[in-house]
Amino acid sequence: MIDLHTHTDRSDGSDPPERIPELAAAAGCTAVAITDHDRLDGIERARARGDELGVRVIGGCELSVGSDAGPLHLLAYFVEDGEGPLQAALSGVQDGRTGRNRRLAARLAELGLPASLEEIEAEAGGGGVGRPHVAAVLVRKGVVASVQEAFDVWLAAGRPAYVERPRLTLPEATAAIHASGGVAVVAHPFTIRPDAAELEEAVATMAAQGVDGLEALYGRYTPEERGTLAGLATRHGLAVTGGSDYHGRYKPDLQVGTGRGDLAVPDHVLDDLEARRRSN
Ligand code: AMP
Ligand code: ZN
Ligand code: FE
Ligand code: FE
Repeated sequence: MIDLHTHTDRSDGSDPPERIPELAAAAGCTAVAITDHDRLDGIERARARGDELGVRVIGGCELSVGSDAGPLHLLAYFVEDGEGPLQAALSGVQDGRTGRNRRLAARLAELGLPASLEEIEAEAGGGGVGRPHVAAVLVRKGVVASVQEAFDVWLAAGRPAYVERPRLTLPEATAAIHASGGVAVVAHPFTIRPDAAELEEAVATMAAQGVDGLEALYGRYTPEERGTLAGLATRHGLAVTGGSDYHGRYKPDLQVGTGRGDLAVPDHVLDDLEARRRSN
């Protein structure tokens, strides 16, 4: 068993990178990918711990990109911190996030919500600031009862405190990922369209724009949804991948490896991804 989608406290997870391979080992995983939003700086720390435990740590990250079908999350695998085309692109993306965070804090002040940039940054603990950190401050202040409620009422796209940030396009992102030796996988595809029939055409376009796989085996999907997405991926020649989207206490329903208890991504998924990497 493996888990190809986890977040650490370098972005908006709550656990330090070293903890992820520990949880993966306890769950019975042979490999785990670190996929923090827009950054690669948790990978080496996780790998050092994974090496001690006999758990393979795959380098990765999760990017928010614009596509013909609308915004989507793109996972990169087999990429590392350091120099390279993807790494250069991420530096620009991080600057965009910093600007967004300043505008978001200003919007919160306008709305009379008690979450300053200083408090939000303190919640992030020195890692990249994301909306889950804003949500956690709003929970602590008693504005909302849960992180999910903070998104539903204030922070989700279309809600009063939503602030856009610049994104790479899908072709730009897949090109940078491939040029850095990686593969590109569309995360939680039902976020793009909740309807599988409507996804079909979007997936054909994504495959033509360099996408290598679909995250069919996602922690929050039902067995039926996973099967539907696996069929969709296979029809378009894409790899079927999977992971929990573990965020520690920011998404308390999800565990490393097992998701909500019913996830089990087989080891051969990684072999398929590696084969695609060589042929990119
Ligand atoms: P950011 O990177 O700051 O744009 O925040 C992205 C993070 O917010 C990801 O971890 C998402 O899982 C989380 N997120 C985005 N939209 C929602 C939503 N509607 N409900 C709960 N969490 C969300
Ligand atoms: Zn996240
Ligand atoms: Fe995501
Ligand atoms: Fe994620």
